[in-house]
This record gives sequence, C-alpha cells and structure tokens, in this order.
Amino acid sequence: MDEIVKKNYFELMALVDRGELTGEEVYNAFLHTIDKKDHEIKAYLTINKEYEYKKGELKGIPIAVKDNISTEGIKTTCGSKFLENYIPPYDATAVIRLKNNGGTIIGKTNLDEFAMGSSTENSAFWTTKNPWDTERVPGGSSGGSAAAVASFQAPVALGSDTGGSVRQPAAFCGIYGLKPTYGRISRYGLVAFASSLDQIGVLSRNPKDIAIILKNMAGVDSMDATSSSVKTEDYDDFINIEPSRTKIAVLKFPKESLSSEMKIAYDEYIDFYSKRGFILEEIELKYWEYGLFVYYIIASSEASANLSRYDGIRFGKRAKADDIETLYLKSREEGFGREVKRRILMGTYSLSAGFFDEYYMKATKVRAVISGEIKNIFNVYDFVILPTTPEVAFKIGEKNDNPIKMYYSDYFTIPFSLGGFPAINIPFKLNDSGLPIGMQIASNHFKERELLSISDFLEKEIKFENNILGGFR
Ligand code: GLN
Repeated sequence: MDEIVKKNYFELMALVDRGELTGEEVYNAFLHTIDKKDHEIKAYLTINKEYEYKKGELKGIPIAVKDNISTEGIKTTCGSKFLENYIPPYDATAVIRLKNNGGTIIGKTNLDEFAMGSSTENSAFWTTKNPWDTERVPGGSSGGSAAAVASFQAPVALGSDTGGSVRQPAAFCGIYGLKPTYGRISRYGLVAFASSLDQIGVLSRNPKDIAIILKNMAGVDSMDATSSSVKTEDYDDFINIEPSRTKIAVLKFPKESLSSEMKIAYDEYIDFYSKRGFILEEIELKYWEYGLFVYYIIASSEASANLSRYDGIRFGKRAKADDIETLYLKSREEGFGREVKRRILMGTYSLSAGFFDEYYMKATKVRAVISGEIKNIFNVYDFVILPTTPEVAFKIGEKNDNPIKMYYSDYFTIPFSLGGFPAINIPFKLNDSGLPIGMQIASNHFKERELLSISDFLEKEIKFENNILGGFR
C-alpha cells in the first residue's frame, strides 16, 4: 500500500497504462491511507468512497479537492457552518474537466472558512495539522489540500489562491503549489471570495504532476466571462532551461520582513541560481509593501458583496425567526465565524458612501501601480524570485488573537495576485528542526509552461521530494 501512495501522479498513470495496477486499486490504496492517517492530520472534511471513472488520460488516479470548489452530489461546505449540509447540484468547470479526462475525486479538503485565513484555524470544523509537526499549522487557506498531499493521502490536490492560499500552505508543508495566471482556469463553481483575485491552483509533490493536472483543466469557459481565451499549452512538455540565457530578477526586501533562518535560506536560494550561471539582478520594488493593505481593502470589499448571497433564504443555514429581517440577521450571525464577519465589516466600511473614494477607489489605483511595477520587470526578466513566506509553519494558536500578524503571512504572495501573475512555491530545504522552507518563482502572464519548466529544473537538482519520501511518520 505504502508503495502505491508514495508514487507520483504521473508514475501512477504510467503503471495503470501498462496494466500493472488498476485505477481502482490506486484509489483504494489512498482510501486505506486516509483511513489510517487522517484521524491525526484531519486534512479531509468529506471522503468520497465511491470510485467513479470515465476513461481518459488521468486513468482514474485520485485528486483531492478543496472544499470551496463545487462537486456534484458531494458536500461543499467552504469550511463554514453556513454550508454545513450544502450539496451542490453541479460540478465546477475545473472538476468536470478533470473527471471527463479520467480524474477521480477522492475527497474534499479542509480550509479556512470561505478561504479567509492562513492556517485553517478559521475552519468552522477543525484545524488541520501540519504533517511535519502536528503542533503546527499546515498554512492556509488550502491547508487541508497541502497536508493531504504532504502526508500521502492524495497525489495531487486542487486549492484556491486569492492572496496566497495555494503557495503559502505548499511552503509550510514542503510541496509545490502553483497559482496560475488569473483567468487561466475557469472560476465557475469555485465559491466566490474576492472575484477579481480568486484562482484555482494545484498542489503536488513535484512540478510534473501540476503540469498534467493544469493541462487537463485549463482554458476558456463560456460559464466564466473572466476566463481567458489565450491558448493553453502542453504544460508537461517542459522547455529546456538554459541558465546562461535565463534572466532572473532577485527581489530585495527590508531585513525585518524575514525571520533569520528565512533570510539565510533566501541567500542560499539566490546562490543556487548564481552557481548555475543564471543571469541575476537585484531589484527593489517601490510599491510592494503596499500590497498587503491594498489586498485587504479590495478582497474584503469583494467578499462583503459576494457573501451577501448567504441570507438564510437561498443557501444553507436558516435560523429560526418570526420575521424576515430577524431571519437574515440571525442566519448570518449564527452561520458565519469571526474572521468572515470581520471581513464583511471591513468590506462594507470601505464600500460605504462616505469612504468609498478614500479606501476602495484608492486601493484599486494602488493595485494598478503595483501590477504595473511587476509587469515592467517581466519586460526585461524571465522570472522573479523571492521567498514564499516570512517564516516557517507557526504553532497552532500562535497568531489567533492577532489578525494583523496572520495577514502578514501573505506579504510575499499577495502582489502577484493583485496583478494576476502566475507564481509557484518551491520546497527548497528543511530548517534545523526539520521543517520545510519554501521559495517562490513568478513569471509573466500565461507563462505557466516556463514556470513549471524551471521548477522541474530545480526539483531535479534539489531533489526535495526525497525529504518527503524519506518519510516523516
Ligand atoms: N490569507 C489571505 C486571506 O486571508 C489569502 C487567502 C486566500 O488566498 N484565499 O485573505
């Protein structure tokens, strides 16, 4: 069993293709592992015991799906009491495409309520544990997806990234996590948090698996007007990376933005490239530091509008009340958790008549400036490198009473989200206590193939996967 679940998605596809295993045997091996391990890790909210397979490239190999992505007939809770019993009548476009190409959905993974958070501690159900150290958070909001992949309870998982929710948990759990270009994957069926930022992403233990999954779900969709018609590519057909012809911008940050071990790791990461002959140049961005503030205004504003649909009438929870006004109020009061309420309040405030220009409008202007500053880099450089997180996975409970500290988890990921750029977490090394340290690479819009190619180049040199396979527990 252990032998099967430790294999990569593409390896499992090949084994099934050669007739050495069936897709169902692979599926059952993962179910078995979930049965053994998940009471400890708590990555899944719902497990799908039924193996349903349509013939296709993905050969029935399972995929875990974040629980804010709609799955027909399978509960989709968004980690919220509001949707505790909600069963969508349809599949998200990403899900239906994967299923039509032979993918299977093994379960739904835990998240911060409505994807608002950086640790899964905002889930209304439970906190997922980091498989490397179960006293620590797996990151978030796609923490369940990251923990499932890192603990061999799924070969790949879908997440969603609004400000960092795929890359940050990937960094905390020592795996790869790609947030594609905004519009590369249809958002139809991804429960809306901040629509101008939300994007489905993929988490896996190696870049090739991400490329295969991306290829099988990307592309324009008539159900999502913001999906892009730019042609998709065979993302798993990697480009040969020639260091001496590859220009990389190394982002510089104030010392206090990184823990001391992250600072050292970042220097090693830069060295890694320079030793191999990449063309490196240091760059300081003037507006980067405003990203976090701009994001929290824009994301909360959009969230306050998007979440108005949970009124106690149309979806999920309905509180007992004698009149309609009380019904709205009580349903929202009982259905939403603290962080979600906080975001709705912040958003409603920024959008209110007296403050709209001062907050929301100003934020959209600064967003354009930040995006433009990043876009300018890509006129000259192929990639941008930087850390993924300010520090390694923190202890459960450590930041619970300080939302601002929690928000800083996304300091290095948010600006790419604001500009819609693709970016990936690379598991780079382990710190002295054996916890993973993640680094980031970003590229210009729609350069996912290039981004995955350089990630594969790195994995072949760093061989981080051996750390995971070496097996913690
Ligand atoms: N941690 C950020 C937030 O809380 C990002 C979340 C996300 O990307 N979904 O909003």
